[in-house]
Amino acid sequence: MNPIEIKKYLLSNAEEQQELFALSNNIREKHIGRNVYFRGIIEFSNICEKNCFYCGIRHDNENVERFRMDYDEIKECLRFIKQANFGSVVLQSGEMTSNGAKDYLLQLVDYIHLTYPEYGITISCGELDYDYLKSLKEAGATRYLLRIETSVRSLYSKLHPSDHSFENRMECLRNMKRLDYQVGTGNMIGIPGQTTDDLLADLRFFQEIDADMFGLGPYVIHEDTPLVNREIKRWWEENRQIIYNKTLNFIAVLRILMPTCNIAAATALDVFNPKGRTEALRVGANIIMPVVTPSMYRKKYLLYQDKPCIDENAEMCAMCTINKVKLAGLNTVLGVRGDSEHFKLSSIGRL
Ligand code: SF4
Repeated sequence: MNPIEIKKYLLSNAEEQQELFALSNNIREKHIGRNVYFRGIIEFSNICEKNCFYCGIRHDNENVERFRMDYDEIKECLRFIKQANFGSVVLQSGEMTSNGAKDYLLQLVDYIHLTYPEYGITISCGELDYDYLKSLKEAGATRYLLRIETSVRSLYSKLHPSDHSFENRMECLRNMKRLDYQVGTGNMIGIPGQTTDDLLADLRFFQEIDADMFGLGPYVIHEDTPLVNREIKRWWEENRQIIYNKTLNFIAVLRILMPTCNIAAATALDVFNPKGRTEALRVGANIIMPVVTPSMYRKKYLLYQDKPCIDENAEMCAMCTINKVKLAGLNTVLGVRGDSEHFKLSSIGRL
């Protein structure tokens, strides 16, 4: 696909969009088949040192009641993941770089790897230094998800305070590559001021960094953030359908451009349409992440508002995500890690 075609498809709807989805589905069938893999996600802490302008749990949001789950609570989540037979776990939190926070996570990864050696372990805890990433890898972490949010520096600086570094985020991604993680990244689609060329740049960036997996999603406002004022709120409400469509189109184009990568169906899509994640699976996503976080913490982990699944529990999310895969007409695959084919293929190249 050339850049003109990509831009056309990113903006497509109706017949042109169906043509795109047929194309992305053919590519999926050919390269990775119809399997969908599960990752039980534990949002173990909403404490964050950072202040991203779009994020509901940013450090300066005083309306957030902070928590960090204790090990016994996390062990209970892990037992559920085992019982539900998900095959992989995602540990997600705000960014914390104190020694105490680092020890806590390292011990946790160590425990999971020793107790459940069969699990794929994904970490999603922000920008961490090389040595610590190395320690996590040695303890058993296999994947790391660090969304770039946007590859366009000017847009990045509108989304982050000046003490947040685009270069550092890039360096973290490169370090993950060096350490042989399955590298995950992603962007936000529908950021105020984002152009189709910006999305094209994100796609190029994903190819250049040669990522193995993606966690990307639509921009959803959170009213307790500096990015949102009355005007942005109105703009976002008026453009919901466009943002939703564009996100599905982006997933489909990404599947075509990087056919063997893992792409997660973002929960945020369900804010726009209850069938959002099902649609994402239909057009190219192959990963779904049922929330395993205990119900009592879910309302405190609102990166964006109107977040789905906050009134549910782990059992309900397991049932619901399995149904979504069935509705999409794809295969529910339990009990296996579902590592990125892209990673496996590039590992062969590195031998
Ligand atoms: S996006 Fe991540 S790093 Fe930024 S404020 Fe939110 S939790 Fe912290």
